[in-house]
Amino acid sequence: MTIKLNFFGAAGTVTGSCYLLETPRARLLVDCGMFQGPHALKELNYQPFPFAADGLTAVLLTHAHTDHSGLLPKLTRAGYHGPIWTTPGTADLLTWMLPDSARIQETEVEQLNRRQRRRDREEVEPIYTADDAEHCLRQIKTIDYDIWQEVAPGIKARWWNAGHILGSASIELSVETGDRLQPNLSMLFSGDIGPQDSALQAPAEGPQGIDYLLAESTYGNRPRIHVDDAGRRAILETEVRDALDRGGNLLIPAFAVERSQELISDLGWLMLHNRLPKAPIFLDSPLAIKATDVFERHLGMLDGLEQGLSPFRAPNLHCVGSVQESEKINNISGGAIIISASGMCDAGRVRHHLKHQLWRSNATVLLVGYQAPGTLGQLLESGVSRVSIRGEHIAVKAHIRSIDVYSGHADQGDLLRWIKARLPVTRGIFLVHGTEAALAAQRDGLITSGIASDRIIVPALDQCFNLDHAEGARLLGEGKSRLDADKSAEARQGWDWINDYAAFNVDLKNYLLNLDSDHARQQVLQEFRRQMRQRS
Ligand SMILES: [Zn+2]
Repeated sequence: MTIKLNFFGAAGTVTGSCYLLETPRARLLVDCGMFQGPHALKELNYQPFPFAADGLTAVLLTHAHTDHSGLLPKLTRAGYHGPIWTTPGTADLLTWMLPDSARIQETEVEQLNRRQRRRDREEVEPIYTADDAEHCLRQIKTIDYDIWQEVAPGIKARWWNAGHILGSASIELSVETGDRLQPNLSMLFSGDIGPQDSALQAPAEGPQGIDYLLAESTYGNRPRIHVDDAGRRAILETEVRDALDRGGNLLIPAFAVERSQELISDLGWLMLHNRLPKAPIFLDSPLAIKATDVFERHLGMLDGLEQGLSPFRAPNLHCVGSVQESEKINNISGGAIIISASGMCDAGRVRHHLKHQLWRSNATVLLVGYQAPGTLGQLLESGVSRVSIRGEHIAVKAHIRSIDVYSGHADQGDLLRWIKARLPVTRGIFLVHGTEAALAAQRDGLITSGIASDRIIVPALDQCFNLDHAEGARLLGEGKSRLDADKSAEARQGWDWINDYAAFNVDLKNYLLNLDSDHARQQVLQEFRRQMRQRS
């Protein structure tokens, strides 16, 4: 019997997880993620799927992050009305994440169409609408961890905790082959793997001994310093205590899902044990508040919480719903802890808080996650003395601090350990979901660990493999990619000139802002013009 596996995302790309497994009796999709990053990749979100959506038997989902789930409503719009299997935690997160994503699509397209009309160009349609998202949510069927479920004729699936975010899973499949000697083919899709030392998630699990493994490689080339719960809390404690001692407010930009809840949980623990004063904590992000509600409903799934106590219900935690309430926080001159999104300071309510805190010399901004190039968070981290927020120039006098003890992703060592714990993998290991450098480092790490190099495959976008019992994985055809060679190279880096240009723009503006005089600024611009004239 022929079993084929197509890599329609997260292969040769960092985002857009999407795999299609084909047997004579079923067509199974694992993840349906949105492409992010380079422009050419994002354009794929608008193109038709490279498969017939209405011909699918079932869809299985590893977790709620947009690069794994973000195109599910598009699947519904394209005619898929069958089941979408996932864990209860993921299902609950999706109830607001998918409609929210739809609203973003609709708003972006509305703005784009205004420009299109002015340029006398054809209008575009949103990838999907809030209606599509609502319909899609009705297709979700939930399944707990560790239970075998028949998901399609001849295919059973089992979800393993991946320790990455609430509800996240690796999915194991057992596929009937019709072969009497080897009646089943087993495979494992890693999804995203969490770190060993996650604040709220138990370490990732998985089966031992499979035929095929698809392993993510996000941090395949990045080791991190590991700290246990006590170490992580001690680092946070010092930062919060110093910030409160300065007499001003503490602003923590944080991702809405998982990171905000980790912070609330650790702050709650430190206050409960009198290691920190019970300062008011303002959770000021509508998305983070919705996510926190979901976490509250799934307390039993979380690791590291004090028995019987929910940090999400602490009396000093204030969930700030309305914009008016959010603005009222600006009147507080000191002693408050404000957690707000986005985590990289490039959008959301955190920007108005930055406007009100950055100029105060007794205020503190604590960065707790990765800050990408071109974001305001990265500028602050680099130590600039002035920034521009909503057209206003703000002096940076606040203390800018950053800590690297919160992470949603397994690092290089964690990933390698997780893969080794799955051995033996008898037929092949596919490495996906990483930049070229991360994939190469992950591959080298596996070879050094004694895994035969011909068993490790790094597939490219849109490639299809025959999963043979005897021979292992075999590439079928040339595998026509939706991206040409140039675009493929950009996709593999997760970066293109437009990303670069945006980051450069931010850097340049900031560089000019931080010069002493208008005369110096004009001189720099003149020099730029001179260089451009020379090159053209
Ligand atoms: Zn993820």
